[in-house]
Amino acid sequence: MLRSEIMDDIDTLLDTGDFTLGKHLQEFEKAFASYCGVKHAIGVGNGTDALQLALGANGIWDGTRVITTPFTFVATVGAIVACGARPVFVDNGDDLCISPEKIERALHIHDAQAILPVHWAGNVASMFEINRIAKSHDLAVIEDVCQAIGASETYSVMGNVVHHCAGSFGNAAAFSLHPLKNLNCWGDGGMVTTNDDNIAREIRLQRNHGLVNRDEVIEFGVNSRLDTLQAIVCLKQMPDLDKMLDKRIAIASRYNEAFWGLKGVKVPLPRRGVRHTYHLYQLKVDKRDEFLSYLTGEKAIDAKVHYPIPVHLQGAARHLGYKPGDFPQCESDCKHVVSLPVHPYLTEEEIQYVIEAVRGFYEPKPL
Ligand SMILES: *Cc1c(COP(=O)(O)O)cnc(C)c1O
Repeated sequence: MLRSEIMDDIDTLLDTGDFTLGKHLQEFEKAFASYCGVKHAIGVGNGTDALQLALGANGIWDGTRVITTPFTFVATVGAIVACGARPVFVDNGDDLCISPEKIERALHIHDAQAILPVHWAGNVASMFEINRIAKSHDLAVIEDVCQAIGASETYSVMGNVVHHCAGSFGNAAAFSLHPLKNLNCWGDGGMVTTNDDNIAREIRLQRNHGLVNRDEVIEFGVNSRLDTLQAIVCLKQMPDLDKMLDKRIAIASRYNEAFWGLKGVKVPLPRRGVRHTYHLYQLKVDKRDEFLSYLTGEKAIDAKVHYPIPVHLQGAARHLGYKPGDFPQCESDCKHVVSLPVHPYLTEEEIQYVIEAVRGFYEPKPL
């Protein structure tokens, strides 16, 4: 059993006392990089630090501007602010990921140094277009992959078939290993991926005080290492990761099929060629609040809203000067999204129960 295998390795770790950095972390970083199809993976303290370190290593410091989406978890924006940079919001598209067309429009008005797309819910943002825009404006691209490990896109460029994992499109990418994410440790953890040797070296330095050896510091850094113990926990899950993601995908397909014909319900179908890993299974529905209380009350289903308040309308964002109406798609989505249980341990009865509950609330579409 996985748990006892993990405990065995932790037991060995206790004997060595090798709690920070070291061999297990290196092994996990290597497995992670290979899984994502990138050259480097660097274990850090959490997903938010991963974003902040990735931004910093790409030259995002005081006074720079970073384009991102207001439809995200607050940490995306918190990391930009923690760098001393200014978030510039751009509305999302119907897929809940940042809209490339709207980025292009925003770049007519705002100067920016980087784009931070979020692979929301396990979907893949439109990276081909985002990278094209970034290249033509000389911007760095830092991906927020905290919800999307294992997501990927296969597409063709001038007749060649290309396959990319989320986290391998940009200059650097940030992952979270928080217990609620699709690959998770027993506490907080994060990872940065990159194909750039210099960025990788910089992040390795930064996460460990800027130390090049025991006694010498060449730049001031932070303490944000991935605990060796957490690296053990995650490394043991790597062989099963795709199996677990496939279970989510299978449940999501069942839901998509069952809810496709309901009036007032929109199912989260990915673009063609995208492997959506469904960290969240989010419907967009009419009468959302009524539906939510029906599910959580009468039906006792663990449904949630991620998230009811867009980041640009949070109290923390007041100094940025945004107002209601600035990002109509995002603001409308925050009123219509609802997440259903999609974790790989759902039983057949539970899946069926959720399906029947949803079908009991909405009418079938008239033919
Ligand atoms: C979870 C999450 C983060 C932050 O990760 P932590 O490990 O909790 O710091 C950042 N961005 C998104 C989109 C997330 O879902």
